Amino acid sequence: MYDPLLDKHPGAGQPYPSSYWFAEQTKPLPQHAALSGDISADVVVIGAGYTGLSAARELAERFSQQVVLLEAHQPGWGCSGRNAGFVLKGTGRLGPLQLARRFGVQQAQACYAEYQHAFELVQALQQRGRIACQPQAPGYYKLAHHSRFLAGFRQQVEFANQQLGESLQLLSQAELQQRLADHQAQGAIFDPNCYGLNPLQLALGYAAMATNVGVTVYGASPVTNWRSEQGYHRLITQQGSVRAKKVLIASNGYTPKNFHPLLQGRLLPVLSSVIVTRPLTPNELAACGIHGQPIVMDTRALKYYYRLLPDGRLLFGGRGAIRGRDADKPRYGAQLLAALKQSFPMLSQITLDYQWSGWVAVSLDDLPHLYQAPMDSPYVGVSYAAGYCGSGLSFSALAGQRLAELAMGQAIPSLPCYQQPLRTFPLARWRRVGQWLYYQWGRWQDQRR
Ligand SMILES: Cc1cc2nc3c(=O)[nH]c(=O)nc-3n(C[C@H](O)[C@H](O)[C@H](O)COP(=O)(O)OP(=O)(O)OC[C@H]3O[C@@H](n4cnc5c(N)ncnc54)[C@H](O)[C@@H]3O)c2cc1C
Repeated sequence: MYDPLLDKHPGAGQPYPSSYWFAEQTKPLPQHAALSGDISADVVVIGAGYTGLSAARELAERFSQQVVLLEAHQPGWGCSGRNAGFVLKGTGRLGPLQLARRFGVQQAQACYAEYQHAFELVQALQQRGRIACQPQAPGYYKLAHHSRFLAGFRQQVEFANQQLGESLQLLSQAELQQRLADHQAQGAIFDPNCYGLNPLQLALGYAAMATNVGVTVYGASPVTNWRSEQGYHRLITQQGSVRAKKVLIASNGYTPKNFHPLLQGRLLPVLSSVIVTRPLTPNELAACGIHGQPIVMDTRALKYYYRLLPDGRLLFGGRGAIRGRDADKPRYGAQLLAALKQSFPMLSQITLDYQWSGWVAVSLDDLPHLYQAPMDSPYVGVSYAAGYCGSGLSFSALAGQRLAELAMGQAIPSLPCYQQPLRTFPLARWRRVGQWLYYQWGRWQDQRR
């Protein structure tokens, strides 16, 4: 598998991963042709995931820009078409209480208002684009995998309900077992608003909305080189090039090695892996005590997440291999399956139908960042949005919009994640070693009684 820390470009025109989402497609997916020849545009967007598609649509629709979107494969090929489909009110790795501790209550409220806005935007786009992405009944459980997390849960619920106007519930282990018989859970926070959907359908819907307002999307067109030409940028692909004054980088966790100085050493691409079981029988479902179609995440340092899919399968995910070349090894699927069985021992005979992985972009300060090179920079005209730390489905729609606003000189909210560049990882060459050490610590931490 492509490895962003080692490979200089992500390949060209590869098929979608053989995920459950891809298998669920009933019609052939649109294929966008490769760029051929030398062209120009007002703005070039690199990467056709949620961020790039949203930014491109916004630039064409609201700012009447001529936009070219260059994608190495096809829209939604990256994280956006292969994630777990959890629509959450948040991004990065900091919850509202952690944001308040780091930046103060007012900033935490401002961040949360932005996350709420992003959450609502995803719903609005689904309706406006008539995107058939199978949104499920809402209900999100954050599980305490150990009782030592319950005191913190109480503080989080109080903060969210008193300071953010939320209506979260704190569930004891006994209350939780009435709704979800996870054998590992010691209690939970229940959020009645977040929900699951089909992420690939969402990405394809965003792509259709972008092309409908005049965005030109090229598939199989990885940017392999980049030149400055008297105030313009020229982006070179395998069979052509585009010249533009403004470039938005939306390649996020798939950003190749040495792609652009603005992103050099500032992201840690981490593999998140997913398995999908065969459909559960009605008896198995009843034994698991799963009511509704909840989305679920736990408190482990190396988190697990799962959800019940519309056809009764369980999707279960967590951290995968460290290197791209190990991503598809069956042992990572087997590890996830073993974890699933710890939560639901009654599924000891369950088998897998799908396993896949994708690269999420982790930032040093656990926050995403949007950034535009200043006027006196050699990279003037270039901006990026990246570092959602594995939680970008809802935020990316708004991040794309904010990126478009930044590029058009509009003011965007003053938040810790906007207007500051991603921080550079210390000893960036050794990011993988740091990740390995973190995984060792995380395993120890998660097994601690
Ligand atoms: C297994 C998994 C589960 C996840 N589950 C969830 C979830 O449930 N909820 C949630 O909120 N988030 C989840 N995420 C994270 C979420 O999917 C991402 O945050 C989000 O999709 C990022 O979107 P994006 O558009 O920024 O990047 P991507 O969707 O990754 O798009 C980047 C695109 O850039 C392209 N590209 C890269 N380099 C070049 C180049 N040189 N030239 C041209 N194109 C290039 C790539 O091909 C890719 O298509 C998950 C991620 C994974 C991997």
